[in-house]
Amino acid sequence: MRPSADTIAAIATAQGCGGIGIVRISGPAVPSVAKQLLGGLPAPRRAQYCDFSDAQGAAIDHGIALYFCAPHSYTGEHVLELQGHGGLAVLQLLLQRCIALGARLAEPGEFTRRAYLNNKLDLAQAESVADLIAATTAEAARSAMRSLQGDFSVTVHGLVDELVTLRMLVEAMLDFPEEEIAPTDINRCSQQLQVIRSKLQRTLGTAEQGKLLREGAHIALAGRPNVGKSSLLNCLSGEEIALVSDVPGTTRDVIRQAIQISGVPLHIIDTAGLRESQDTVEKMGIARTYQTLQNADVILFLLDARQGMTAADEMILADLPAAIPCLRVFNKMDLLTGIGTNYPSDAVCVSAKTGLGMAGLRAELLKRIGWRNQENGIFMARERHLLALKQAQACLIQAETVLQKAELFAEELRLAQQALNSITGEFTADDLLGEIFSRFCIGK
Ligand code: GDP
Repeated sequence: MRPSADTIAAIATAQGCGGIGIVRISGPAVPSVAKQLLGGLPAPRRAQYCDFSDAQGAAIDHGIALYFCAPHSYTGEHVLELQGHGGLAVLQLLLQRCIALGARLAEPGEFTRRAYLNNKLDLAQAESVADLIAATTAEAARSAMRSLQGDFSVTVHGLVDELVTLRMLVEAMLDFPEEEIAPTDINRCSQQLQVIRSKLQRTLGTAEQGKLLREGAHIALAGRPNVGKSSLLNCLSGEEIALVSDVPGTTRDVIRQAIQISGVPLHIIDTAGLRESQDTVEKMGIARTYQTLQNADVILFLLDARQGMTAADEMILADLPAAIPCLRVFNKMDLLTGIGTNYPSDAVCVSAKTGLGMAGLRAELLKRIGWRNQENGIFMARERHLLALKQAQACLIQAETVLQKAELFAEELRLAQQALNSITGEFTADDLLGEIFSRFCIGK
């Protein structure tokens, strides 16, 4: 444990008015702050109803004080939580009083950073605290909680343990360099390497799903004016957020809407109708549309089912970024009389007006963004984690090519282990910690 020299304080509850507001203090000065603010240090882990007093002894507020004695606290330090009334001014007064008594204002994520530095959580768990707070769907919250409870860390530690075992086997060979490496030893190394590689691959798969839950996917709606993009967005989101009109070119700017399908957050972007235009404002909207399309994970290309693929659609389709998966959606199926056009087998047919085919569209969308419904066991993961897992996998692939050369083999294993360790925060650089914790909210 690395005890901090200073004491930090922050309002831990969200800004605004609420029934209860909490000021949290952590560090060595907690006992003296408590003495002057409350008249004494409350018994550890016992709720104590008391006045929170100013310098003249007048009550700023009254409420519950909770004291957690080091190291049995969130941060591992002495922690005092003051639960008072949730008003902006009263909480500010209480915070200022704590600062006057020797605490300083906490930086974003500093409580959790201290928890990490005091080995209360590893880095992946600390990140999942922020992810749990930021989760916008129930599924995302559940998977963040799994990471916080250590599911992801346990998996990573398991992989590291197996790597260490393999490294020991290889290092033993290195101790006798003059001897030929026995083919049986090489076989054993190769087998163990395969086992680790396939486990790592599975972990990567789960982490990719976790990242999808955390970050969601970007879906761009594209198509000619009036094919029903805004209507489809409204239908998907269940709200009237986009302007619907039958005058072509109404949607001049990019409209974004966050929705969820099966717990996966989707950021839907309705784009300005793509068409040749002389109108300057509309031209700007169209330019922005193409920019947005470049960053999408999937493009929903909307067409009018009555007309099928027209020459104008073909022209737009040709201009869409080829690298981004494109799902063709034929809309206005409710207006079809008789047998419709011959639609491509990978297209989806819907009516944004009646809701016809929408369940199929939602399922197809999930499939296209790579969501595999794995019910349980997904842990929250970040881009940083995926990169580390991929880097470890690359080292193991490289290791396989140098199996005969024990020294090079050992080095690749060491690098793979280093990559995995960076996930849970062993030997993590200070600047990375700064980057991670600065994105937290104040008071966490
Ligand atoms: P956008 O320009 O592509 O965004 O198209 P809008 O969503 O503004 O729709 C243009 C017109 O088509 C509006 O009058 C909508 O009510 C109508 N519309 C959209 N989708 C459907 C549909 O599935 N069925 C029918 N009957 N009308 C639709």
